[in-house]
Amino acid sequence: MKNHLTPFSSSHPLTRMISSSSAGTEPALDSLAKRMTSDSYVVFLTGAGVSAESGVPTFRSSDGLWKKFKPEELANFNAFIKNPVLVQSWYRHRTEIVENVKPNRGHFAMAEIESKVDKFAVITQNVDNLHQRAGCEEVIELHGNIFRSYCIDCKEQFDVQLFSENGEPIICRCGGLVRPDVVWFGEMLPIDAFRLAEKHARKCDLFISVGTSGVVYPAAGLSSLAKSSGAFLAEINTEPTELSSIMDVTFQGKSGEILPELISLLES
Ligand SMILES: [Zn+2]
Repeated sequence: MKNHLTPFSSSHPLTRMISSSSAGTEPALDSLAKRMTSDSYVVFLTGAGVSAESGVPTFRSSDGLWKKFKPEELANFNAFIKNPVLVQSWYRHRTEIVENVKPNRGHFAMAEIESKVDKFAVITQNVDNLHQRAGCEEVIELHGNIFRSYCIDCKEQFDVQLFSENGEPIICRCGGLVRPDVVWFGEMLPIDAFRLAEKHARKCDLFISVGTSGVVYPAAGLSSLAKSSGAFLAEINTEPTELSSIMDVTFQGKSGEILPELISLLES
């Protein structure tokens, strides 16, 4: 049973929810809470909207020095080979931004749900480590993590982002260039992470898409996979997305408001 989005007049997030048709007059969030029990298998898919609530600027909203560059011009392998110091410096800038924000109530709510249910995973398109900082343990990073790096030649991993201090590119002991462990334009998603994400989507009871527009494939295909495998699908986003039509229930608003409300229903 699908729901279709309709316009809302109220600005309160909880009154702007769309009720699942299967829930009758029961509030939609309450029906989602009832499906979330101690033996549930719950999977979240998160995107930029979740980070934006913590104040992480989107990829495109560069400022200062970096205003003149388009992300596509820096976040790709050829740009890195051409000017590694420039790309490493841009990532230093982005890392500093992320270091200065905090996980929000939505991140913490997901970590709390992890502690309440039998099986759980967050599949994230974000690279900012905020789910881990909020205490989530099972985090699958589809686009990598800005706080890690690896050598492009010997593939040695470094658990920190390495920065040039002297205008020279960062080089591995093998002589290879060290790049951020993030997925760049034109690159494949890490295959192990994506396979694990597919496994979770196929097996879960509840699949909740949060703060993601649904247009970026193949990550967007995970929602369809969960649906065809029998999961109940929910979406939390500030606006309707391309995936809204396949959801069993959708909530328009901030995850930092809606997820804590869900937690309070779990506890009642
Ligand atoms: Zn190396």
